[in-house]
Amino acid sequence: MGKRIVIALGGNALGKNLPEQMIAVRRTANAIVDLIQDGHQVILTHGNGPQVGMIQKAFTQLTRAEPDQYIPCPLSVCVAMSQGYIGYDLQNALREALLDRGIKKGVATVLTQVEVDPDDPAFTHPTKPIGAFMTREEAEQMRVERDYQVVEDAGRGYRRVVASPQPKSIIEIESIRNMVEAGLVVVACGGGGIPVFLTRGHHLKGAAAVIDKDFAASLMAQQLNADYLLILTAVEKAAIHFGTPQQKWLDRMTPAEALQYAQEGHFAPGSMLPKVQAAAAFVRSGPGRKALITQLEKAGEGLRGETGTLLQEG
Ligand code: ADP
Ligand code: MG
Repeated sequence: MGKRIVIALGGNALGKNLPEQMIAVRRTANAIVDLIQDGHQVILTHGNGPQVGMIQKAFTQLTRAEPDQYIPCPLSVCVAMSQGYIGYDLQNALREALLDRGIKKGVATVLTQVEVDPDDPAFTHPTKPIGAFMTREEAEQMRVERDYQVVEDAGRGYRRVVASPQPKSIIEIESIRNMVEAGLVVVACGGGGIPVFLTRGHHLKGAAAVIDKDFAASLMAQQLNADYLLILTAVEKAAIHFGTPQQKWLDRMTPAEALQYAQEGHFAPGSMLPKVQAAAAFVRSGPGRKALITQLEKAGEGLRGETGTLLQEG
């Protein structure tokens, strides 16, 4: 029986630069079309770290070279650009892979805004360093002129840090749902979504933040009533005692076990921890919901129960 699956693609599904991405998306598209051929309905989301970094850096250099012409590009706009660029490559590669197999299915990317709460505690403790390195003087100038929070980053210079708040709601969720119901392959919530605050009236204001794509994927999977949240990353399974001689790969766990391991510090913050937390939240959000963490190449096997780390209620 075909399932509705929200897939979160990690950095290795996209590569780190333009030529790498061109090659990686082909491999990614083929793995996804395998699932579509197996009868599943897929909705995609993806990370954007290298891409948003590249866009931000280009604007920083432009601003430095021609300060009368350009101002630094707001982070929310950089995320929007990264969604467009990645969506373009994915959409194109998926279209080609579908047509090559004789499958007539539309593919669409939705520029997606995701609401964050200005009172989210993440805003008082920004943790995510982004963008180009600055000298002490440049950092001080940015702090005063643009209200940036800056930190010294491991002796390499100063960097801006931004908050990584939780996603509250997906502004375009109805459009996404309609497209999914119409049978399209949809790419949405890229890079965790364009973070926005609700303001007075109907205005949405871009927020200087980065939403974790794994949390945005979990929220989208919940709101689309998906059967599966499939988190595709660089490892075939999550492990406890990762990277030590006691390392043990995990085949399955309940959300309670997952959160217990998380509390014991088995999953690295910023990499495996958000995946496990996002997976546990999805499984707990409704009966029968399952989440799987595995590698892109193992997606089909994983869904057949042959590999990966499966999260489900006991
Ligand atoms: P993505 O781009 O897919 O989000 P990340 O690098 O953020 O990838 O997270 C995946 C990485 O998490 C793995 O490649 C692995 O090195 C690391 N990791 C940290 N803790 C664990 C763990 N307990 N089990 C497996 N992998 C882990
Ligand atoms: Mg990650």
